[in-house]
Amino acid sequence: MTDPLFSDGHEPLPPEFPGVFSRLAPFSGWLERGGGALMYHKLGPRPAGVRLKGLYVSVSLFQKQLGDLRSAGYRSADLAELTQAVPGERRIALTFDDGFENVLRNGLDPLRTHGLRAIQFLVPGLVGRTNEWEQREGEATERLMDWNQIREWLAAGHDVGAHTCTHPRLSRIPRDQAREEIFGSKARLEDALGRPIRHFCYPFGDWNPAVRDLVQEAGFVTACTTEAGMNRPGGDVFRLRRLTARYVSLNWRNVGRILRQWVSGRG
Ligand SMILES: [Zn+2]
Repeated sequence: MTDPLFSDGHEPLPPEFPGVFSRLAPFSGWLERGGGALMYHKLGPRPAGVRLKGLYVSVSLFQKQLGDLRSAGYRSADLAELTQAVPGERRIALTFDDGFENVLRNGLDPLRTHGLRAIQFLVPGLVGRTNEWEQREGEATERLMDWNQIREWLAAGHDVGAHTCTHPRLSRIPRDQAREEIFGSKARLEDALGRPIRHFCYPFGDWNPAVRDLVQEAGFVTACTTEAGMNRPGGDVFRLRRLTARYVSLNWRNVGRILRQWVSGRG
């Protein structure tokens, strides 16, 4: 019980933790123990002027990541399973925040090819519109799925969850407003789609104990944060940790390794 990755406390991740998820190999040992979830936002080519480039994963990298997972025997986990011990099975949850159209357009085929299921967290007040909360901070415009596209996603066997009505920072708005954002997002999605909405995701990963309690009171069964790490059996289902899936650009450690290979190759 001293493993910080499997605790609900505020212990830092161990220094050997690989960080963002680009490929499976550095995470094999961690994911095999269960309780893993990947966090994606946007799939496909980046439009001009994008600020947060890391929120885009190329289709080729996505296909490679899914291929690696399938080759290693991973199956899709429901988020509620992440805090339950499932011995002998390799399971991982694939999550997409915000409900972008490019996830439907670019993600359905790779997911079908590899037999994996995913969940998209939707912002029902902006369905069929664009990422207004990001544009306010200078980000490039991206379309969000409309209701027909959401139904297409569901018909392909995938799931949706709630991500509030308008994507606010829940800890910074009045409690009544936070309640409306949380309860309202569940009701609007259930009314429009005619199915139970069981999972919630905190916009910007912003939450506090009062917000968490509202999510539980609304009848959700899990809630995802943006905190990095793994989930443990018996952990808090309203504070699920995820691994950020993205392309890993050259950092100093990689540059050093590449330089050493280059030098030794020439020497
Ligand atoms: Zn979001």
